[in-house]
Amino acid sequence: MIKNNISNNIIGEIKDGELVEFTSAKKTWCPGCTNFAIMAATKKALSELITDGNIEKKDVVVGSGIGCHAKIADYLDFNSFCTLHGRVLPIVSGMKVANPALKILAFSGDGDAYAEGMEHFIHSAKRNINLTYVVHDNKVFALTTGQSTPTSLKGYKGKSTPFGNPEEPLNPLLLALSSGATFIARSYAMEIEKTKELIKKGMMHQGFSLINIIQPCITFYDNRKEIAEKMYWLDEKYDQGDFDSAYTKIRENGNKIPMGIFYQVQKNIF
Ligand code: SF4
Repeated sequence: MIKNNISNNIIGEIKDGELVEFTSAKKTWCPGCTNFAIMAATKKALSELITDGNIEKKDVVVGSGIGCHAKIADYLDFNSFCTLHGRVLPIVSGMKVANPALKILAFSGDGDAYAEGMEHFIHSAKRNINLTYVVHDNKVFALTTGQSTPTSLKGYKGKSTPFGNPEEPLNPLLLALSSGATFIARSYAMEIEKTKELIKKGMMHQGFSLINIIQPCITFYDNRKEIAEKMYWLDEKYDQGDFDSAYTKIRENGNKIPMGIFYQVQKNIF
């Protein structure tokens, strides 16, 4: 659905002391879902980019696939749409080619991006098309109540793997690096300010930007405690322009989970 009531205020307005949001879509995420945190970071990022004159609201297009993440397209007051499962990248790529002035913010879940949409992900990174791809990585098909995805950890017990997932998880950042992505970042949903900054930087980057956000599903795969204990942020000494550093840091796993921008370089855009 394309919404046409575009104004420069993206959150809503105060009426009789209450915040009235511009979109009327009912929020159907579970109460306390970490998707709310990603939406808050997104609103802040877009609000600041618009206020600072870096982008115009009329140029922003928000797209999503299928899954819990996809509802964000209904909840943000922008030109927006939901696509088929895993197909948001080819749709927004077509839009960008037809109208290069658009500022594209595409959302996916980990199942959406790295299962159904895997081939689109690889080729979008490879051609370095100028758009931002935000993946809500909760390591589970949550909308369909708990099947394993390509990023589910080995041993995860869900609807499709009741005896434990026998497979090793895919590393989407490593795949993005080897596919040619020119901006690769990871964040944690509950770190709203940091996520906001990464979204802003991704949207200002010229080329394909991936922001993989660890987004615990509190209903089917609640790993918030583990993430909070293991995560740390890359410091300013880390060289974001060095491929070998990114290759090493992206493969770090186990007791530590690095967050931040792993890789950012400029190359020709599609
Ligand atoms: Fe969020 Fe999980 Fe509920 Fe989906 S099922 S809305 S990801 S908590």
